[in-house]
Amino acid sequence: MKLKLSLLWLIVIQISFAQQRTCGMEQKMQQIMNDPIARQQYLQQQAQFEVELQKMATLSRNSNAVNNVQTIRIPVAVHYPSAGAVTESVKTCLRALAQNQINILNADYNATNADIVNFTENDASFYPGISVGNLGVQFELATENHPAGTGLTNGQVAVTFGTDFLSGADSDPTWAGYMNMVVRNEGSSILGYSPLGGSPASGHTVVINRFAFGSGSGCAGFVPAAPFNLGRTLTHELGHFFNLDHTFNNGTCSTNTNCNTQGDRVCDTPEVASESYECPEVGTVGSCSFEQFALTMNYMDYVDDACMYMFTLGQENRMRAYYNAIVSQFSTTALSNNEVLDNNFKIYPNPSKGSFTIEFKELTNSYAVEVYDITGKVIYDNNFELTSSLVQTINLENTGSGVYFVNIKTDNGLLITKKIVME
Ligand SMILES: [Zn+2]
Repeated sequence: MKLKLSLLWLIVIQISFAQQRTCGMEQKMQQIMNDPIARQQYLQQQAQFEVELQKMATLSRNSNAVNNVQTIRIPVAVHYPSAGAVTESVKTCLRALAQNQINILNADYNATNADIVNFTENDASFYPGISVGNLGVQFELATENHPAGTGLTNGQVAVTFGTDFLSGADSDPTWAGYMNMVVRNEGSSILGYSPLGGSPASGHTVVINRFAFGSGSGCAGFVPAAPFNLGRTLTHELGHFFNLDHTFNNGTCSTNTNCNTQGDRVCDTPEVASESYECPEVGTVGSCSFEQFALTMNYMDYVDDACMYMFTLGQENRMRAYYNAIVSQFSTTALSNNEVLDNNFKIYPNPSKGSFTIEFKELTNSYAVEVYDITGKVIYDNNFELTSSLVQTINLENTGSGVYFVNIKTDNGLLITKKIVME
């Protein structure tokens, strides 16, 4: 009998752990709207956003959206408030976890995520007229000109340990100008939250629960737990930061719908009355319209990490307008001037058949090369020290074909990422 009871407990514990997605954005917004100053800032920013949205409506979707002539770079700082006393090796692990999460964001926000093919090759047929969106931004851990008093020096990545953000608050003017991500214990019910339309100038943060940050085996106290172990909680919450609402916002099927002002205010996401959980099969969940299915694989629904994999073009436009409204708030000096390094080396051949050469114009003292795939998985990692050669050949004969990213980091902190295609 005793054994049976403990088995029952085990089942109860497992059920309570296999939770459904929850997001604290709406509570966060209530807090902001109840604070007169924060509310006024919020309304001002939304007014700016509307101006940008109008501007975009007059432009056809061309250069920026499709060709990404110039990649937008966003300086990121990641904060682990509870990790002030951890060992150096745990800190190293947590910095890698931060980079892993950023790699996931860069895939999801550029529609280069591996599972986007689920949509393009199959699911799209259930959604006539809906296209994949791609904000075309590059999130990068900031490395230069860190805020005074943070103890970080030039060349170090902006990952902090023990920073309490004004005793546990969600914003801190010290970190104004950064895309701040705070990873901490938020209990077991909330995966994360963000303001709906965040303000870098106010040092706003996106908060992620410590078991829903990044992917892989994680680090002590910060282990990604299924089904939220693929880093998509941050993809979802950053959508809020860039002014995207939940696809199920309002929770009713309205009559006389104006999709520009009701629901999620995005016209190409089918209107739905409620959220979807876990992993619905495509074509099984209806929307408010008899002619359309719910877009359950959208990042702004409540499905599991493995089952969300796309933004729509309408969401892209809304995020881009919001980005345009806040771009001047991002620090312009927190990222290294990659051009220096960019002009100093080349990678060839690209596309490559499995091995490629990195050639430097001048000798650098030492540098690290890291190659990762579009899921953020590192497939090559090596340090070259005091090398007297201007060329390095990297052999990756056994990797599959596809798009990969090569990170080169010099000992003075310069970091550059180049895309390489393997055939
Ligand atoms: Zn949400």
